[in-house]
Amino acid sequence: RRLCKRLPKVELHAHLAGCARLATITELAGEIAAPGARAHAALGKLTLDECFARFGAIHRALSTEAALKRVAAEVLADFAADGVRYLEIRTTPRALRDVDARGYVCAVLDSIGKFERDAGDRAMVVRLLLSIDRSGPIARADETVELAHTLRAERADARRLIVGVDLSGNPSKGRFVDFAPALARARAAGLPASVHCAEVEDHAEMDDVLAFRPARLGHALFLSAAHVEALRAAPIPIELCPTSNLTTLRRAHMREHPTAARWLLDDLRTTEAYPVSISTDDTGVFGTSASAELARVALELRLDPAHVAHLAARGLHDAFEPANSREMLTLRARCARDATI
Ligand code: IMP
Repeated sequence: RRLCKRLPKVELHAHLAGCARLATITELAGEIAAPGARAHAALGKLTLDECFARFGAIHRALSTEAALKRVAAEVLADFAADGVRYLEIRTTPRALRDVDARGYVCAVLDSIGKFERDAGDRAMVVRLLLSIDRSGPIARADETVELAHTLRAERADARRLIVGVDLSGNPSKGRFVDFAPALARARAAGLPASVHCAEVEDHAEMDDVLAFRPARLGHALFLSAAHVEALRAAPIPIELCPTSNLTTLRRAHMREHPTAARWLLDDLRTTEAYPVSISTDDTGVFGTSASAELARVALELRLDPAHVAHLAARGLHDAFEPANSREMLTLRARCARDATI
């Protein structure tokens, strides 16, 4: 556990609101007396539907620009304190009580800017993905992609910080194919997509996702033999979220985690490892951290320290920040230096 805390880590799959501190959401919910927000405190085994009810409660509590800035600052501070050195945080732009969706993204950009000024990029490189909610209207997906373009055209910080888009939201709602055109437009404009997929069993939808070939896949739990074969032939990096997945799958041990069993354990025996990175998904909702997720994988799968160190920063290869940017070159050198066991 100490090794996992100390190692430089890369976090590619973290949802901003899902990473809000429990205490902060409870406090904010108290201030606005949002019904249901206090239920966030009830930790335990959550079904996917219960997770999404919880996101609804968090969103009701996180309802002003000031609250959003506070949560963003705390989330960045928490990841940095946990030893994350490269963080891609993702969030779904939405109107709050006092700002519209554009104001929402500007508030997040401002919070990242403040973190950079206060902590410096030596502490942690932060980049932003704009999320598209598959349970929402298709028109909103188009607006989100448009917003990314507009902000990148107008603000130098947005051009530097917004590096991609994400498709997430309740997997039992909406269809991937309806959102693929918006994701394709983002890709054509230089914003790659990370797509949540196979969180529930739907092989036909997974066929569509693989045909699209997103830059990264989130979760990828329920795959057919044909999907596995296709991915082995032409790998797409997978973001693996141990505690989140085991919670919603109602399984206890990493050996029962379908993605880990298939891609991590198999690949321990080969030299060409499949590109998998370890992520938290929602540190607040699942009561976890990047180092706790890494430790869970390391201990339950009995990985040796060299493998753990490799896995901790594995995601750097799959980051959406260009590999040859000044920050990435510096970061890679620092991670290599600090990953000595
Ligand atoms: P936000 O985008 O910052 O508001 O973060 C919360 C949102 O992230 C939720 O409302 C979902 O749309 C999305 N999200 C978080 N965790 C998951 C997950 O495990 N699967 C799908 N979507 C998720």
